Order: sequence, then C-alpha cells, then structure tokens
Amino acid sequence: MAASWRRCQKCRKVLPVDDFEGDSEICRADASKAAAATTVGTRASVTTRVTTTRPRVPTTPPRDIRGHGDVEVRARRARSRALDRLSEVHAEEFAEILREERASEGL
Ligand SMILES: [Zn+2]
Repeated sequence: MAASWRRCQKCRKVLPVDDFEGDSEICRADASKAAAATTVGTRASVTTRVTTTRPRVPTTPPRDIRGHGDVEVRARRARSRALDRLSEVHAEEFAEILREERASEGL
C-alpha cells in the first residue's frame, strides 16, 4: 500500500498516486493551479505591466536626488524637508500659523 503514495514536490503533501499525472512530481491540484497561473499571468502581464511600472517611477528619483546638486540646492532641499517635518511634529502650531498667513493673504 505504501508504494501507491507519493509526496508532492510542490505542496509537500503525501497523496495517492492517483492524484498525480503519470510520473509527475506535483499533484494534479498543483499542476492545474500552475497551468491556471501561467495562463492568467501571461494574460494579466500585458495590462499590469503598464499600471504597476508607472506609479513606481516617481517614487525612486527623490531618494536618488539626496546628496546631489550644488550646496545651495542641497541646503534648500534639507531646509524644505526640515520645514515639512516641523509642520508634522508641531501640526497644531503650524495649522495656526498657516491660518494667520492665509488670512493675511485674504484666503
Ligand atoms: Zn501538491
């Protein structure tokens, strides 16, 4: 009876030989899953490649920019980042100051 059992190389389950296609090392369930994944994958890759690569592009340059450019440019960038962080740390004060400044601009 032991000879009629085989371990699937994919899901690691010990299954009856009937669950395997001929000498296949993976069970029928995994074989059909793999087949479905490849058909879906090839079909989806055409559309997903376009949609997934686009949002990734703008996220990389800001990281690469750091440490590059003239001293003035780097200093301005550092100051602007510091101001952003300051506005986050002191959100309430920033909101109050912003309100004052916006009011003075007639906003
Ligand atoms: Zn399996």
